[in-house]
Amino acid sequence: MYYVSTRDKSKALTAAEAIAQGLARDGGLLTPEQLPMLPKGALKELQKMSYQDRAVYVMNLFLNGFSKNELEDFAGKAYNEDKFDDARIAPVRKVDEATHCLELWHGPTSAFKDMALQMLPHLLSASLVKTEEEKTVCILVATSGDTGKAALEGFRDVEKTKILVFYPKDGVSDIQGLQMKTQEGENVAVCAVYGNFDDAQSGVKRLFSDEGLRADLEQRGYFLSSANSINWGRVLPQLVYYISAYADLLQNGDIAEGELVNVCVPTGNFGNILAAYYAKQMGLPLGKLLCASNSNNVLTDFIRTGVYDRNRTFYTTMSPSMDILISSNLERLLFALSEQDDALVRSYMDRLSKEGNYEIREDLKAKLQTEFYAGFCDDTQTQQVIAAMWEKHGYLIDPHTAVAFDVLEQYRKETGDAAKTIVVSTASPFKFCDNVLGALGQNELREGVAILDQLSETTGLAAPAPLAGLKEKTVRFTDCVDKANMLDVVLETLK
Ligand SMILES: *Cc1c(COP(=O)(O)O)cnc(C)c1O
Repeated sequence: MYYVSTRDKSKALTAAEAIAQGLARDGGLLTPEQLPMLPKGALKELQKMSYQDRAVYVMNLFLNGFSKNELEDFAGKAYNEDKFDDARIAPVRKVDEATHCLELWHGPTSAFKDMALQMLPHLLSASLVKTEEEKTVCILVATSGDTGKAALEGFRDVEKTKILVFYPKDGVSDIQGLQMKTQEGENVAVCAVYGNFDDAQSGVKRLFSDEGLRADLEQRGYFLSSANSINWGRVLPQLVYYISAYADLLQNGDIAEGELVNVCVPTGNFGNILAAYYAKQMGLPLGKLLCASNSNNVLTDFIRTGVYDRNRTFYTTMSPSMDILISSNLERLLFALSEQDDALVRSYMDRLSKEGNYEIREDLKAKLQTEFYAGFCDDTQTQQVIAAMWEKHGYLIDPHTAVAFDVLEQYRKETGDAAKTIVVSTASPFKFCDNVLGALGQNELREGVAILDQLSETTGLAAPAPLAGLKEKTVRFTDCVDKANMLDVVLETLK
């Protein structure tokens, strides 16, 4: 199987080339030329497997040029009980007869990004060997909070790699900020940027397309790559947990063979829900894909109207990992919906960068609305959902997950669709103690990491070990720069 750019499909790359490169040179996203189908009987087989084996099975369908042994090695290193606090890795929790919650935050940084970023470094290292790359790769990351920490943990002290993370100064929670500022490892650097996530992300995109920088770094023995969800090596591991969750529901007798299950995903950059879409295209029996947004509801409007318009107010919300106005991975969806019309995708993306908006063709809009439902939820409502879930089900959820539960409720009310639904839970509530405590009626909050104990005492639940351990960590990174000075930070880091 080969990979092509969403903006020019004439040039085919191998899986290793696509992963090593990250972003296509033309600015497009590298994407499989064709999706493999789940073989007949696959779900039966998968039911009996461990998460690691499921990952090998699914990734093997996509990664020509990687041996099964290699993939087994990677899966064992990425998903094990030293790193995850649940042996099932991505457990599904039953909330009620029709609602199941897929918990993706049992990894080392307590957010769903670990699912992909524990795997990506292995895929990338192997891809560099396969493509005979001799230079050291420098991973540049723009993060709205969770990606940065998960990437730092995934890449720390991985040979022949460096990682530099930029995060928006006021766009992450205290705990998220502390997780990054205290990052350990010899090959890591972290820097705050004045502005919001889009400032950080557009800054990083500009660095990637800076030919002068590329040449300079080459002389120094480096090249840039990405761990943002634009890298195929990020999206692929995310397909696994949808297939795994479906297999679990079958295994537990919660659904019948072939039963269509809806999926509801708290969405920002559109990577997570895109993986659900791909899994469905591969033949996984999924029904409607529910795209849940916070007040930054650019995707809600897009799915409802076919018009994408980023010219709008940007809100800093309690679900910061979804505070995004440009959802990069949407480009891959447009490529798929248009049956790989690269010229059309290019024209939409041109228009997006010049005017900040585009409107898709009627036929694409019709397809979009068949596959997806969209809704959003503001901060007040988010906290009400957290409180209600805790009171009704004794289930503590984080603000991102709460947005998803709210949108599911809206969808059910609006449509009467009673299909069973997998709600994707993307972060531990302990990553967002302040707003979770606020939802539970506590207004006097303790400072810094003491807030973890406060949430534990209030709920009787223990904080995940990596968060509880923050107390003992030393702050290493305190710099904050203007967006215009990000280039200097790269040059300083890669001296
Ligand atoms: C990244 C993230 C999201 C959004 O996922 P996308 O793939 O960007 O749509 C949602 N919730 C949490 C906690 C996240 O870290």
